[in-house]
Amino acid sequence: MTTPLAQRLTRAIERGGAIPVAQFMAEANAHYYATRDPLGTDGDFTTAPEISQMFGELCGLWLADLWLRAGSPPAAYAELGPGRGTLAVDALRAMRAVRLEPPVHFVETSPVLRAAQADRLPQARWHDAVASLPDTLPLLVVANEFFDALPVRQLIATEQGWRERLVALGEGGFVPVAGAQRMDAAIPPLLRDAPEGTIVETSPAAAAVAAEIAARLADQGGAALFIDYGHSGPAAGDTLQAVRNHGFADPFADPGERDLTAHVDFTALAKEGRAAGLKVFGPVGQGEWLNGLGLAARAASLAKAAPHRAHEITAARDRLSKPAEMGQVFRVLAFVSADWPAPEGFG
Ligand code: SAH
Repeated sequence: MTTPLAQRLTRAIERGGAIPVAQFMAEANAHYYATRDPLGTDGDFTTAPEISQMFGELCGLWLADLWLRAGSPPAAYAELGPGRGTLAVDALRAMRAVRLEPPVHFVETSPVLRAAQADRLPQARWHDAVASLPDTLPLLVVANEFFDALPVRQLIATEQGWRERLVALGEGGFVPVAGAQRMDAAIPPLLRDAPEGTIVETSPAAAAVAAEIAARLADQGGAALFIDYGHSGPAAGDTLQAVRNHGFADPFADPGERDLTAHVDFTALAKEGRAAGLKVFGPVGQGEWLNGLGLAARAASLAKAAPHRAHEITAARDRLSKPAEMGQVFRVLAFVSADWPAPEGFG
């Protein structure tokens, strides 16, 4: 299959040589999200808020509890990459129960998903980037499966030392290759002697967003909740993956037609929070966090109210929280401004 994006990238490589993996990933995902709603059983993948309303409700309660204990100041809700708006709908409903009804701000680049969000939350305001979020009110920020879609830079150990991993044109399409420029100085000392073929990933784009949010919270007050698939770095390993129709696919094939993700380095995000003078909590496993916030009790009360759905609710609870499912590989990190209290759910 040759898509317009594949043709454009081919021309760019023919003209200027191989392009960084980060550029390939950024262009592929921009096209992918701009042209479809990838979520749900008919799409390519499912996310926690699409599995059960309990997820968004507990995110909303977590924010509302902190906000109440911070003295209930006027505040704005800001979500990064809100997908279909499902998490926001559930979180805002939970917040309303304690009379928290903040203005809603979405950072979203996809016109297709903006339209889906507008169907459910017509009162929201949309932003292309964090920079234009309100700059006076405390912010209540949520990002679920947002950072994993941001581009990663990959460095690879070769016989001649560390090189950036680039995407070139091979016989059958796009292939990863090692660049010519020496990159050893970009590798943490502990990893410099790693065996040939080792890949080290960083996400300057993710760190930049975390730093921008951190600066806002330090300045305006508030809290942020980051939930994603990830690890506590500095880790070595190639985590770039493509998902299509709920299965894994070659990340270098059909750019723009598959969701490209990489594991989120929570250590790198946490560093930005600390550097801005925020209180940083986690990362903890999603299961531990949800259980600490009362997932079991919420599931039991939903099941009691709708006995014909009890089985489905129990299954969703387990899927979100069991270590073998989403409970462990998904992690939760929180930033809280220095003048706000400590949040629930982090032990
Ligand atoms: N949070 C939602 C959707 C996750 S999919 C959920 O949990 O269901 C990733 C989301 O991030 C999509 O809404 C996508 O359009 C958005 N996105 C991806 N890259 C982005 C970028 N660079 N800037 C803003 N939004 C982005």
